[in-house]
Amino acid sequence: MADAPTPKPWISAIHAYVPGKSAGKDGRPLIKLSANENPLGTSAKALAARQDAVMPSLYPDPDSNALRSALGALHGIDPARILCGTGSGELLSIAASAYAGPGDEIIYVRYGFSLYEIVAQRCGAVPIIAPDADYGTDVDALLALVNAKTRVVFVANPNNPTGSFLSRAEIERLHASLPADVLLVLDQAYAEYVAPEDDDGGLALAAAHPNVIVTRTFSKAYGLAGERVGWATGAPELIEVLNRIRGPFNLNNGAQATCVAAVEDQAFVEMSRRHNAAERARFVEAVEALGNHGLRAIPSQANFVLILFEGALTAEAAYGGLAERGYITRWLPNQGLPNALRITIGTREQMDAIAAGLREMAEAAR
Ligand code: PMP
Repeated sequence: MADAPTPKPWISAIHAYVPGKSAGKDGRPLIKLSANENPLGTSAKALAARQDAVMPSLYPDPDSNALRSALGALHGIDPARILCGTGSGELLSIAASAYAGPGDEIIYVRYGFSLYEIVAQRCGAVPIIAPDADYGTDVDALLALVNAKTRVVFVANPNNPTGSFLSRAEIERLHASLPADVLLVLDQAYAEYVAPEDDDGGLALAAAHPNVIVTRTFSKAYGLAGERVGWATGAPELIEVLNRIRGPFNLNNGAQATCVAAVEDQAFVEMSRRHNAAERARFVEAVEALGNHGLRAIPSQANFVLILFEGALTAEAAYGGLAERGYITRWLPNQGLPNALRITIGTREQMDAIAAGLREMAEAAR
């Protein structure tokens, strides 16, 4: 007999999720461009609704009915096809646990969202990693790995940490080539940042097919990362299964009230999208101007840009130099990207300071 409780071997293998940092090595708080939060903050209407939320002495609505109705009205989805989660992270986790278990395989792309490995391991499934195509998602590479053990395929679109994006045609092709008993989880955490004309059609796929779940979040364009709210949509049968294993009362009173008002304030979301598109374009241009120093921006549809450092200035040095200038970004050696920094699009002033800092460092490096 062991002399202490022994975790399951697949749980022991997990490395805990590493969130974006908010302080430098010396503990000094820095301007945080490491977690893809919204630099414009939160809708004033959502904040006002938060003040009026039901008293914390009372349990929240266990089914988040008002929020599911608001989301259904906005997106034209029957609320019976919507499930809310404690962040979209909860929904990714329960989607994996519901449809995969020990010995099954879960596929996602290299340089994909780091939580996929954790949620796959958590249910005992084997993570299967598809090669990328110049840091983006390669549909053929994903499909080549599908076999009888495959239960779930995760695709983030736009993808984190690369910002890369698959077109509607590519998403449709991926889905059409998957066996009917494989669940496709389309993680659209950054969908609100995509120009409406570039929509990847994920919601329509989830409406039409019994093996597609789309997840979304309030953490990014809605500026509500701290409220921990996400939602998923798919066939009623899928939603009903996930509903059994979500946390009971998984959205607190404040979160429900805040998110209903946030959904009703699409002007804030649109402002966030426009700000992001404009500042991202300006920032990418500034990085491209440093191409002769080996800096390269991966084309992004999200609220961050992955910059590769292929010249004398290393990603590690740039990370340190930006921290000295007061900014924390995300250096990704643990995700196989020691040569890259992921930088969240902040305010105009912040992006100007980052671009100037990168230029100074690139010109000084040898
Ligand atoms: N999916 C992707 C691709 C993400 O980048 C994130 C946040 N980093 C999430 C899901 C989870 O976000 P949340 O749990 O805050 O909804």
